[in-house]
Amino acid sequence: MTKSLDWANLPFKYMKTDYNVRSTWKNGKWGPLELSDSEYIPMHIAATCLHYGQEAFEGLKAYTGKDGKIRIFRPDANAKRMIATAEYIFMQPVPEEMFLEAVKIVVDKNRDWVPPYGSGASLYIRPLLIGTGARIGVQPSDEYTFIILVAPTGPYFKEGFKPVSVMIDRDHDRAAPLGTGHIKVGGNYAASLISIDLAHKGGYAASLYLDSGSKKYIDECGPANFFGIKNDTYITPYSHSILPSITNDSLCVLAKEMGLKVERRKVPYEELSTFEEAGECGTAAVITPIGKIFDATTGDIFTYGKDGKPGPWSEKLYNRLRAIQYGDAEDPYGWVTIID
Ligand SMILES: *Cc1c(COP(=O)(O)O)cnc(C)c1O
Repeated sequence: MTKSLDWANLPFKYMKTDYNVRSTWKNGKWGPLELSDSEYIPMHIAATCLHYGQEAFEGLKAYTGKDGKIRIFRPDANAKRMIATAEYIFMQPVPEEMFLEAVKIVVDKNRDWVPPYGSGASLYIRPLLIGTGARIGVQPSDEYTFIILVAPTGPYFKEGFKPVSVMIDRDHDRAAPLGTGHIKVGGNYAASLISIDLAHKGGYAASLYLDSGSKKYIDECGPANFFGIKNDTYITPYSHSILPSITNDSLCVLAKEMGLKVERRKVPYEELSTFEEAGECGTAAVITPIGKIFDATTGDIFTYGKDGKPGPWSEKLYNRLRAIQYGDAEDPYGWVTIID
């Protein structure tokens, strides 16, 4: 039986569900995937994830369709990205088939927690890979733990599909390299907490980061990529210090399908004043239109959209992406995995 939660008003927060799934790599091989109902991991005090940041994570979502079937969006892309991250920081990667199997098991065993169709909520799936072997010198671990936990979540920004204001703070954006190395690791996030806190205190939904080296180009928006639209062109930054977002990759495909040109290139700060629409995109943020960008250092303000409404292209892209994710539209790109 589906749980009786206030699905339409779920926050984007951790919540205990029935199970998580785990496996340990030791003596040169991955052990079986095991279900656990514990929210804790017993860990050695010298584990490499604690001392040397050997940690990688992923984020994806499962949705209930009108037909009652559960759909998972592009899990193979997350599996591949986690392998790339693991290799970059010298961890034992989780094979793609094992990752996909684990996602299917954990969603299936937590069916009651997948929000119903129409609620606007989804089941957030969080894979985690950590070094759990004991090391005191700087060395990779000889033991790794892979866990997937899930939680039903509502929109990342409580406003839903409404424009938000974001802040650039050059004095505190130590967090700029959030996706440094194109890898998804918690260690990149630690330094972003201060600028997010400052943005929130200033009444802004998020921080927008400039490239950490020259501060001349737009990087990304915390856990979401940035895009701007003008002259029928979808433009998104290319940078070594942003994470290649699977949502953004999907939007590039959908933008082309709609007849927009797509450019992935360096986006100079000055170009912010030329966009007709701007937004951030990611698994958690989906598409969140940006209504205003405030640069706390220069005092510059850039605004997008009219009457507090998302721009027309952002809205079209949002609706098209949602329709595929929820199964309201055909899935011409083979992005969706259905759990029967
Ligand atoms: C996860 C993440 C994103 C969004 O990527 P998606 O694959 O779309 O969820 C963007 N930037 C950073 C730094 C991230 O960690």
